[in-house]
Amino acid sequence: MQNLGVSRPLPHVGRFLNQCGPTPLVPVQLHPDSPIIWCKLEFLNPSGSTKDRIARYMVEKAWRVGQLREGGTVVEASSGSTSIALALTCAQLGLKFVAVMPEGVSHERVLMIRAYGAEVILVPRESGIRGAIATAEAYGLEHGALYTRQFENPDNAEAHRLWTGQEILSQIPQGMVHAVVSGVGTGGTIVGLYSAFAQAGCRTIPVAARPIHRYGGVHAEIECCSFSTRVPGVVDGISKLYTQEALPGLRELDIDEDAALQTTRALIRKGFPVGPSTGLNFCAAELIARELGPEAQVVTVFADRMERYFSTELFAQ
Ligand code: PMP
Repeated sequence: MQNLGVSRPLPHVGRFLNQCGPTPLVPVQLHPDSPIIWCKLEFLNPSGSTKDRIARYMVEKAWRVGQLREGGTVVEASSGSTSIALALTCAQLGLKFVAVMPEGVSHERVLMIRAYGAEVILVPRESGIRGAIATAEAYGLEHGALYTRQFENPDNAEAHRLWTGQEILSQIPQGMVHAVVSGVGTGGTIVGLYSAFAQAGCRTIPVAARPIHRYGGVHAEIECCSFSTRVPGVVDGISKLYTQEALPGLRELDIDEDAALQTTRALIRKGFPVGPSTGLNFCAAELIARELGPEAQVVTVFADRMERYFSTELFAQ
């Protein structure tokens, strides 16, 4: 990773933690007449997702500025991936981690987090990720723990601007990215990558992939849609990082949730062991690539691994 300028040495950063990134960037084409998409294989990071980047960056930065000390505690609200990444990072650094998540997240996730020695607090399903955020904030205040605030912490996007984004620029032909596509949870991925590419002089279109649940239909009285909750990690309207100002020229593409799941299965059959948000990303990337034409270099992220979804609908068929 980039030199973070860490002045206070971290307790025991092993070589394993330093293995986070660089990940491959590979061209993927699902069918002979489909566009080619440049895919960043972030599921190859140590905990199995792109969130290892932000976990390491946020924790290391907090350590450097003295917000964290030996044996300290970190707390975060997350639907899963960030918690797994922070649990692994804290395990390696000898820190305590507390994950606050809404009930109903896949059981595999809870097991992984606990296996790393972290504590899991489940808030009622109805209170959702907003309830988890409020509980994490309160825990931080009460116990003097570092609340990493992934939904608003600029270091989340910075990790991708300074790290993931620079890797992509050095891997893609001519260092040229015409569009970058991601589903939005915290918004850190799309904001960080877009700003890396824009600062490198690319005229990149930022594209947010929105999973959509359709109801009604041609024979029904109403045909409408709502934001889907079937793509874990991609949530609506919570991020403070995802703003029009941070993403000039932003395009939002609505992707049917069933198409996202089918594409995830198709990618797995091609040998990419990915989760549902990757299928969502890939669908939107194909759409924008078709629109921009064959010369366009479209980048997306293969965000996390399939194993954490074995008990979910993705594997029901
Ligand atoms: N995919 C998965 C599996 C995730 O967990 C998340 C974030 N929670 C995202 C995509 C979205 O990334 P970001 O938070 O950077 O917007």
